[in-house]
Amino acid sequence: MRRLFTAFLALLLTVGTAAQEKAAKPAAAPKASAAALPAAAAAAMKSIDPERMRAHVRFLSNDLLEGRGTGQRGGDVAAEYIATQFALYGLKPAGDNGTYMQKVPLVGVTTLPDTTFTIVPEHGGAMQLKMGDDYVATNESLSKIAEVDAQIVFAGYGIDAPEYQWNDFKDADVRGKVLLMLVSEPPSTDEKFFKARALTYYGRWTYKYEQAARKGAVAVILIHKTDMASYGWDVVRNSWSGEKSYLRTEAPRLRSAGWVQLEVARKALATAGLNLDELMEKAKSRDFHPIPLSLRLRAHIESQVRPVQSSNVVAMLPGSDPKLRAQAVLYTAHYDHLGIRPGQAGDNIYNGAADNATGCGILLELARAFAASQQKPRRSILFAAVTAEEQGLRGSEYLGQKPPVPAKDIMLDLNFDDVPPLGEPEEAEVAGSERTTFYPVVAATAREFGLVIRPDARPEAGHYYRSDHFSLARVGVPSFSVNEGEKFKGHPAEWGAQQAAEYTEKRYHQPTDEYRPEMDFTGDAKMARFGFALGWKAASQPGSIGWLSGDEFEASRKASLSGQP
Ligand SMILES: [Zn+2]
Repeated sequence: MRRLFTAFLALLLTVGTAAQEKAAKPAAAPKASAAALPAAAAAAMKSIDPERMRAHVRFLSNDLLEGRGTGQRGGDVAAEYIATQFALYGLKPAGDNGTYMQKVPLVGVTTLPDTTFTIVPEHGGAMQLKMGDDYVATNESLSKIAEVDAQIVFAGYGIDAPEYQWNDFKDADVRGKVLLMLVSEPPSTDEKFFKARALTYYGRWTYKYEQAARKGAVAVILIHKTDMASYGWDVVRNSWSGEKSYLRTEAPRLRSAGWVQLEVARKALATAGLNLDELMEKAKSRDFHPIPLSLRLRAHIESQVRPVQSSNVVAMLPGSDPKLRAQAVLYTAHYDHLGIRPGQAGDNIYNGAADNATGCGILLELARAFAASQQKPRRSILFAAVTAEEQGLRGSEYLGQKPPVPAKDIMLDLNFDDVPPLGEPEEAEVAGSERTTFYPVVAATAREFGLVIRPDARPEAGHYYRSDHFSLARVGVPSFSVNEGEKFKGHPAEWGAQQAAEYTEKRYHQPTDEYRPEMDFTGDAKMARFGFALGWKAASQPGSIGWLSGDEFEASRKASLSGQP
């Protein structure tokens, strides 16, 4: 998922990186990494083989796998393949009833064209909005028909963040209301206030829907503003068309979760004599209070609702220490992709070679190497190939809710998603690791591998909340993704940036993300070895791993450690 934005930034960064590169060039030889691990572990790590990864990627992205769609045959074949590899390595099943499969109960929801969405002012004519162009909406309550006829309340950013002494709701009762909200969070340059320009989870649309539902609202309309969302209206429109999947859980849900285009919001507010810019200005204040508007939303939302059955594939290597083996280090990578679209002309198989057969190849090689190691780490190691990432991180969300070992006992999650097979990287991206107490080990290990840690160049885009590690972070587990940066051996950094841009334009989430023989898995193997070393160290170190004090996930970790849900 991250690539879309990486490439955008690549375009911005192609100038002026040569000098940094020179200054940052690492001196340490990759050999040094072995010294930090026991000899047997180092040997296992070294056995991680780029050509084995090629074989996995080639198979998993074969047309016969039909794009590994969630709830489609190809996705199930991929899951069986991964489970079979786990079995061949001799790993213990960690799924349901002694199997490798953890069933993930999903419901697929598609908003149908008969849906209507009308803004009704107290006086004057109603505004009927056009689906796709003006608004998008999904019925999250999982019923076929949802009716909304309720007052619209402007709720500012829709954030209740006690750690920043910020509460847009105050004591307002918004039960049964439609909340009109801004995306993102109050602007800040203060690290201690919504982390300056970096996006926190409070700024993500997913948080806003969840929070509104918890408050008893029936619908949310998010106002789309390109700079605040960090993506255009077309991204919203595309990702809201087609089926969206939800976990079948009891959590409260909105009858309509949607977005409205900026100018449409402006016009609708004007019919009630209101000025959007003034409302946005008011929302920036800590004293903001929800503003009931003389507008109603009258919506009739028709959806196709169908059960979707899919599974996470989970295996375990028990640790060697009788006491510590109850704890585990977790590796994750999603195996699903966009599947096959039978109605589509031309190539209609979304093979997902880079996204995320590469991550699966890494996960499988990690599993094989750990299983083959003559010496086992003290804590257990869990390997999870998760489903429905492309549906909104649903497989990992379920794994976070029902982990094979309690979340409090998971030391760390290392995730691999879309690791480009471009040759040997000289940079690593480990965004989020700096928020954990494990960071000194990450930094030292990167040095041992001759990898320069590349900082998140656009923290305001909130990449951290867009891949599977985030699902584990939400339940308190220190988590981050491991990926390559942009500097590759034998190439200037611009080359890596260009490769990323080209990938985004020509292959990302398209049927052209296919296996090609010229793919070079050296870098994927290096990332796997780096991940192996990190996981081994985490599984063997005496103390636990936590979030730095004040981090937004610290409270979740504390709650899970003290036995609260
Ligand atoms: Zn992915």
